[in-house]
Amino acid sequence: AKSWTMVRHFEGAPKLDDFKLIEKELPPLKDGEVLLESEFLSVDPYMRPYSKNALKGGDVIMGSQVARVIESKNPDFPVGGYYVAYAGWTTHFISDAKGLNALPSNWPDHLPKSLALGAVGMPGLTAYFGLLEICKPKEGDVVLVNCAAGAVGSLVGQIAKIKGCKAVGSAGTDDKLTFLKEIGFDEVFNYKTVSSLAEALKKASPEGYDCYFENVGGKFADAAMQQMNDFGRIAVCGAISMYNDSVPSTGPYIQPYILFKQLCMEGFLVTRWQKQFPEGQKQLLQWVTEGKLKFHEHITNGFENMPAGFIGMLNGENTGKAIIKV
Ligand code: NDP
Repeated sequence: AKSWTMVRHFEGAPKLDDFKLIEKELPPLKDGEVLLESEFLSVDPYMRPYSKNALKGGDVIMGSQVARVIESKNPDFPVGGYYVAYAGWTTHFISDAKGLNALPSNWPDHLPKSLALGAVGMPGLTAYFGLLEICKPKEGDVVLVNCAAGAVGSLVGQIAKIKGCKAVGSAGTDDKLTFLKEIGFDEVFNYKTVSSLAEALKKASPEGYDCYFENVGGKFADAAMQQMNDFGRIAVCGAISMYNDSVPSTGPYIQPYILFKQLCMEGFLVTRWQKQFPEGQKQLLQWVTEGKLKFHEHITNGFENMPAGFIGMLNGENTGKAIIKV
């Protein structure tokens, strides 16, 4: 099995030499165990902040994959079955089958299995539950999402449209803005090239914002808070602009906006809705199959390129879900 380990804790932005590829032989299977081979692996922003406390130098980096059983001593998990696992950045692994999640049984043949790591997996569920349960969008509401061309954001905007809202999104390249228009966003802007975030937000929605699905934090959040409508709802999903900070940054104080606009702001981790994942996954799969939810994947080929794929995703190289294909 080949695995990517973390050499040392990241300082600032992760660099290629923070990662080391190791190879080790796996022991023979015991009864009840299965050997799996990763076909697709996920690189996600959370790996940057989570690695700080969850990993020490030499540990295999955490993460999920779609993997196929290639040897089995467990009759319930026969050779050839595909599962989503959380085995880290590794090509092969042995599992006692407890943490393996089968792909939904009605998975259409024409859909890539990698979607179980994207639109029909954790990012999809994040968009679905975060938007519907915390932002509670009503028909006619204006929904703002940043990182809009990414795995989560691109779905947030589309689900907002399904619910009859106006969707406004920001992203870091003009190609991403074109993509956002193609998948149905009403208004888009490039947060890197606008001269003023406040003006761009006002121009995209002179009527303000009712829902704000927050992925970025920092200066963007400072500007967006001021454009919220009374009784607006803010789902704090991520703060990617701050993940590389060694010293926490402070911005303008937001309490007056929360107070006088009577806003509701709530952070969430998608695992909060773990029990409802099957129901969320069913709906996402249905929307994808019906073509109501368009997905885009940014595939990096080769397990050896996994650190580059991860760094590239943090730098905004991906449109849609960043995936590593072994
Ligand atoms: P994406 O596919 O959106 O990839 C990350 C994107 O972030 C990049 O493509 C880049 O796009 C953008 N980005 C990078 N640096 C900055 C910056 N300084 N300012 C603004 N944008 C930046 O990732 P995901 O969809 O997987 O994740 C999006 C957010 O959702 C993250 O904050 C993540 O932590 C969070 N998340 C939270 C979960 C939860 O349970 N709460 C679960 C899953 C994700 P661009 O070109 O536009 O800059």
